[in-house]
Amino acid sequence: MKKLIQGIVDFRNNLTEEKRSLFSKLALGQKPDVLFVACSDSRVVPNLFASTNPGDLFVLRNIGNFIPPAFSPKLEDSVGAVLEFSIFNLNVADIVVCGHSECGAMQAIAQGHDFDSSPHFASWLKFGKESLEKVKNGITLNPHLAFHNQISQMNVLQQIEHLKSYPFIQERVKKHTLRIHGWWFDIAHADVYCYEHELNQFVLIDESEGNLIIDRMS
Ligand SMILES: [Zn+2]
Repeated sequence: MKKLIQGIVDFRNNLTEEKRSLFSKLALGQKPDVLFVACSDSRVVPNLFASTNPGDLFVLRNIGNFIPPAFSPKLEDSVGAVLEFSIFNLNVADIVVCGHSECGAMQAIAQGHDFDSSPHFASWLKFGKESLEKVKNGITLNPHLAFHNQISQMNVLQQIEHLKSYPFIQERVKKHTLRIHGWWFDIAHADVYCYEHELNQFVLIDESEGNLIIDRMS
């Protein structure tokens, strides 16, 4: 916590004129074109690995980067609210669902922890159970990864399916006014991968893959 306080003091002292003017402009309104869905994990820092600035990303973070399906028996308002706001108020053109390696939620799903003291966590993990079942049944995107990382990659696709269960999302995807991307962050190598549908696997976003994605978007 001391590091956090010192960080605020340092940030204030080192704020450049350029950054100051950026924040002045941002105070008038935000216009991010991407909704970024990621895990709460402290090691996953989208602004860092995607080199983004304040105002670039509208972010939804929760443990496991889960998107409960639209018609979940118990409506998960906080996630639905972010989706509605990002579509109807911000009109984002892209949604990125980003999983990551060594995810605590995926490890808990894989190992079946004792959840007596954490009923909310236990309940929340149900949104990752389909991914566990798939990997347990031999469906995997990369058999060379550790079991919990295989679940994590599968979970990205599963949450994209959940995302498409929202009628207003599905409608925009069909009209090509909204794109959905599946990403996966490998913590140990600080590498980001993108799911390629035709290959049915995650591909490293290096310069050539990055150019491919950008070309496809134009
Ligand atoms: Zn995680």
